Amino acid sequence: MTDRYCVVGHPIGHSKSPQIHAAFATQTQQDIDYQAIEAPLEGFVTTMQAFFAQGGCGANVTVPFKQQAYDWADTLTERARRAGAVNTLVKQSDGSLLGDNTDGAGLVTDLHYHHVALRDKRIMVVGAGGAARGVLLPLLEQAPASLMMVNRTEQKAQQLAAAFGEAGPITRHAVDKPMAAPVDVIINATSASLHQSHPPVPHGAIGPATTVYDMVYQAGCTTSNQWAQRQGAGRCLDGLGMLVEQAAESFALWRGCRPQTERVREQLREALNQ
Ligand code: NDP
Repeated sequence: MTDRYCVVGHPIGHSKSPQIHAAFATQTQQDIDYQAIEAPLEGFVTTMQAFFAQGGCGANVTVPFKQQAYDWADTLTERARRAGAVNTLVKQSDGSLLGDNTDGAGLVTDLHYHHVALRDKRIMVVGAGGAARGVLLPLLEQAPASLMMVNRTEQKAQQLAAAFGEAGPITRHAVDKPMAAPVDVIINATSASLHQSHPPVPHGAIGPATTVYDMVYQAGCTTSNQWAQRQGAGRCLDGLGMLVEQAAESFALWRGCRPQTERVREQLREALNQ
């Protein structure tokens, strides 16, 4: 029997997840059906209850439901607990639902794919929303020299840095405080590109050896990355690879086999730039 999976969000029309998981299923010869489901804004839990009651095996959860999925899951992985958000639900053999968060692993895998060194490096995370929260622990696990947080609304960065305090050396840096030296890696976890804007990066943080990673992906170069290039960034990457890698991580959880991502990355990039 075909196993059913879905991605649930609102809106969900532009999701690339069905395309990605269909490609993974073909490649690994897994018999799955993966659909995009738009839940009403007030109807996440009822939509999910219906999906799992009808035999659903697992789900991806996207904006704006990741925190509701966190509250709703029966058990949580450590990384989901730390992130305070769930992007993957897995139906267990006893019928309970495990909540996981694969966003951070997706980011780290993509950075490794692009040979971006993290160990002993100075990393700056810009943004303090769900995406930033989800990547902090996986980045800390890479043993950076330091992990700085910056956000437009500084209080949110402060709260997030404090919440992760015991997990490693996270510090908050004020947006208007210049940096004495550029950092090695900037993770732009803001949605600034979607607003034709750029992230609030302190003066002096970007140098010719700095890699800037925008979690957003757009045709060509993202708005934020165009700005980072003008500031002299050595290298700019976008979040398309992260999207594919977090999906591969979810697929592996569900199916017990890890798909190859190279070809899927290429296909999505071609489609995005058409
Ligand atoms: P949230 O809405 O939770 O947080 C948005 C963040 O962006 C906040 O820190 C906010 O700052 C900041 N921000 C928004 N607009 C601007 C602006 N114009 N200038 C500066 N800062 C701004 O979103 P998420 O954390 O869930 O997601 C952030 C982005 O990451 C999204 O665009 C999402 O698409 C992307 N993403 C990509 C993934 C991938 O796989 N590639 C996975 C997950 C997310 P403030 O606190 O001041 O409001």
